[in-house]
Amino acid sequence: MSIEVKNLVKHYGPLAVCNHLNLTIPSGELVALLGPSGSGKTTLLRMIAGLEQPDSGQVLFHGEDATFSDVRERHVGFVFQHYALFGHMTIFENIAFGLRVRPKATRPSDGAIRAKVSELLKLVQLDWLADRYPHQLSGGQRQRVALARALAVEPKVLLLDEPFGALDAKVRKELRRWLRRLHDEVHVTSVFVTHDQEEAMEVADRIVVMNEGRIEQVGSPDEVYDHPATPFVLKFLGDVN
Ligand code: ADP
Repeated sequence: MSIEVKNLVKHYGPLAVCNHLNLTIPSGELVALLGPSGSGKTTLLRMIAGLEQPDSGQVLFHGEDATFSDVRERHVGFVFQHYALFGHMTIFENIAFGLRVRPKATRPSDGAIRAKVSELLKLVQLDWLADRYPHQLSGGQRQRVALARALAVEPKVLLLDEPFGALDAKVRKELRRWLRRLHDEVHVTSVFVTHDQEEAMEVADRIVVMNEGRIEQVGSPDEVYDHPATPFVLKFLGDVN
């Protein structure tokens, strides 16, 4: 599912948090929104998700205007930094949740749900933890469950907001590889927010560098690194976290 952002504007009070943003994300790409805190990354992601509405401009999914429609809800999976799994549900039930709450007409049978959850647990290599509860898992394992849960509804678009931000450096590295692998295996279009340039460089097909509500540069990791388009990009990539 391709995503297109056209002339998107969003203010909070007088502040232009997203200032005439234009961006095209081809189907199947894994894109990082990279920039310092407050640059508008989350707001852009939330507008792509349909969780926030722009003041003006458009979001197109597969060429169709989805700015104010609920079409996106049916195709989007989310992972957030503090993506609370349900503490009182097993890992299995957490992943099954999105399928169980579907309207009856589109809800899979219990057998089909079991098969789907088993497949996803295998995909994130946590099938041996199916009957455990979230508090019995490590932070990294929990985010792998969160990824599996987001994928349960077979989204065409996967949106991730600082998905590994709360984890330590070693686990973050491991999860980057998981994200890349899952993205490739399930054929989604993925957009993830990060302020960590190393993370963006390592995982993304393309990087969107944001600053103060504007897009400074869009390019492959090599392009952005070798040919920073603006002084801001040069400085931001030079800063070590
Ligand atoms: P980033 O994800 O790059 O850190 P955000 O999109 O979260 O940036 O925020 C961009 C700016 O918008 C920040 O200055 C933030 O304080 C402001 N902002 C975000 N959400 C709201 C809101 N709901 N109400 C008012 N200001 C907001």
